[in-house]
Amino acid sequence: MKRILVNGAGGFIGGHLVKRLKAEGLWVRGTDLKAHEYTRLPTDEFLQGDLRDQAFAQKAVQGIDEVYQLAADMGGAGYIFTGEHDADVMHNSATINLNTLHFGRLAGIKKFFYSSSACIYPAHNQEDPNNPICSEDSAYPANPDSEYGWEKLFSERLYFSYMRNYGLEVHVARFHNIFGPEGTWDGGKEKAPAALCRKVAMAKDGGEIEIWGDGLQTRSFLYVDECLEGVRRMMESKEPGPLNIGSEEMVTINQLAEMAMGIAGKKLSIKHIAGPLGVRGRNSDNRLIQKKLGWAPSRPLKEGMEKTYRWIEKQVQAKTAPARK
Ligand code: NAD
Repeated sequence: MKRILVNGAGGFIGGHLVKRLKAEGLWVRGTDLKAHEYTRLPTDEFLQGDLRDQAFAQKAVQGIDEVYQLAADMGGAGYIFTGEHDADVMHNSATINLNTLHFGRLAGIKKFFYSSSACIYPAHNQEDPNNPICSEDSAYPANPDSEYGWEKLFSERLYFSYMRNYGLEVHVARFHNIFGPEGTWDGGKEKAPAALCRKVAMAKDGGEIEIWGDGLQTRSFLYVDECLEGVRRMMESKEPGPLNIGSEEMVTINQLAEMAMGIAGKKLSIKHIAGPLGVRGRNSDNRLIQKKLGWAPSRPLKEGMEKTYRWIEKQVQAKTAPARK
């Protein structure tokens, strides 16, 4: 049986990926700095450790056929756009990728998946909220709006270098705002859909929630199950990428907040406050994935938001419930 390594298994997408691979009947080893916070992982083996550490990275790849490298020092706008974490983000994530590829190759692994990001796209192509340009070929000349994006671009190139020089099979996808249950929803590393669901779930009907900026910045959001469908299809194809894996259903952040309110059945007013924002507009461009894989994400945003809201509402209730005597 194929033996799969999922780096970042204790994280949001990694946790869902482990469940999907196990459901497909594969043998799965997970690694992460931490155990998963929200779910019991069905891994065959879970190694807790730091992939920046060479000895641990070497141990992680022993006896493995295929690697899904998802571990990264990352978070939402409140983490990657303030500038305060730039050195850590670049150093930590680059070291994880360098170690994974180096020791993975030495251990004889031939096949790697790497999760890059829409954050690699040039800032100057994403100033018009109604017409952002995010086709795969628009990445160069490069001008990402964050050091997180620069590290992703470096690591994409690293994987492709190993493909060219060492004959490895690599698959690189650029994820666009993946969301769903069992992901970070508070504490500062959460992203817009989870943050808005939490704010709405915590607000009293008729109350108010805060949104960073004027709320007119646009984004698209992809439900985690469809993201993994794309990842698995890409891994079973001969396509190295990079390919966008995202939704083309672009909404403003105000519209996303209204959607969460509609799901919750609450009428709330929105207060716009200063905060870290990122680019003005971003949307996935799915023409290439459709052409290469004959498939692209298609489910409506509302469907994923409903599942995510219900899960976050439960977390909020559990956290705010008075302790039982
Ligand atoms: P996440 O933060 O939930 O998961 C990343 C995991 O990596 C965490 O559990 C973290 O503990 C682990 N990690 C960090 N440093 C480590 C280290 N030194 N050693 C071992 N483990 C370490 O993030 P996610 O949303 O699940 O994202 C997974 C991947 O997809 C990341 O590479 C991310 O950059 C990429 N991505 C995600 C999105 C998104 O919208 N979620 C968008 C674009 C790209």
